[in-house]
Amino acid sequence: MKAATKFIHAGAHPDPSTGAIMTPVYQTSTYVQEAPGVNKGFEYARSQNPTRKALEEALAVIENGKFGLAFSSGVAATDAVIKLLAPGDEVVCANDMYGGTYRLFTKVFERFGIVFKYVDTTDVKNVAAAVTEKTKLVWLETPTNPLMNVTDIAAVAAITRSKNILLAVDNTFASPALQNPLDLGADIVMHSVTKYLGGHSDVIQGALIMNDADLREKLYFIQKSCGAVPGPMDCFLVLRGIKTLGVRMKAHCENGARIAHWLRNHPKVGKVYWPGFEDHPGYAVAKKQMKGFGGMISFELKNDSVEEAKRVLSSTHLFSLAESLGGVESLINHPASMTHASIPREERIKNGLSDSLIRLSVGIEDADDLIEDLAKAIG
Ligand SMILES: *Cc1c(COP(=O)(O)O)cnc(C)c1O
Repeated sequence: MKAATKFIHAGAHPDPSTGAIMTPVYQTSTYVQEAPGVNKGFEYARSQNPTRKALEEALAVIENGKFGLAFSSGVAATDAVIKLLAPGDEVVCANDMYGGTYRLFTKVFERFGIVFKYVDTTDVKNVAAAVTEKTKLVWLETPTNPLMNVTDIAAVAAITRSKNILLAVDNTFASPALQNPLDLGADIVMHSVTKYLGGHSDVIQGALIMNDADLREKLYFIQKSCGAVPGPMDCFLVLRGIKTLGVRMKAHCENGARIAHWLRNHPKVGKVYWPGFEDHPGYAVAKKQMKGFGGMISFELKNDSVEEAKRVLSSTHLFSLAESLGGVESLINHPASMTHASIPREERIKNGLSDSLIRLSVGIEDADDLIEDLAKAIG
């Protein structure tokens, strides 16, 4: 089945009790049992909920995986993956990734004795060099937030497969419409569902998708034992969001390309970070492993002052100044003071994330209007 059809039909079965075409919001905490231990497969809603079940099936289908698990947020999904590990285990991860992931690793899990090694994963040799006998997991994000660095998932998978190490990929920026890491050899795909999958800036949710049944059992055990499950209303909203993922991503990609090229030709704009430029260092890999380049763009101004960046950030009208991304409406963000403020300045600058970097989540409005808005703001 083609992706566009999957997005509409994944996880959709008429409701068994009424025939409702949309899976209802099963707003219940528990299920009445016919006799002790005799139930219809649902006992208590932390463990099972029919709305969540439909969504988890949909998530698996659209990522070309066998199993999906939904969590109360993206970071809760990441948290579940790290809980597969034990003190002393090592994780090799990207040195440029979502600030909240970095915070979870450094501020929470380091205290439990998990060791994280941050490397530039865009060169897979760095990944191979960081792996030791204690490495149990490689954590990738591609393209990265906010610098749009691209890592070759298949090349990293070749390393992890040969050494029996798990490979997890944060696929939030690409969405399942543009990139399917399981097809490239990853073991676990993680999503901040909050972003493109939800697509309407109205839900916080996370997901994990995998193929291996044992791995699914371990992660399901963590999901129900630790309890970071999403509510049924949120699952319903994401089921609705997924139906338009294909058309939304197409529009995000078209608008993203228009705006990236426009920015690049603007006399006041400095470097533009977007993986669709042929001279982007990750272009060849992005072209190989992605079906489109997405709607996320970062750029610097030639006048590289924080004040000038803040002036632009405060001057747009269609682009709203806000954290998050992946909704139908355009957002503008200042990573240094907003999404990535949890990364120490020194660390940020070292990894190329300057104080004046501006990140855009290009929505699906008319591109002419978006360009006019940016033109007025940049001046
Ligand atoms: C937002 C985001 C997360 C965290 O997800 P939440 O839903 O906010 O918990 C993780 N990774 C990336 C790339 C993100 O953009």
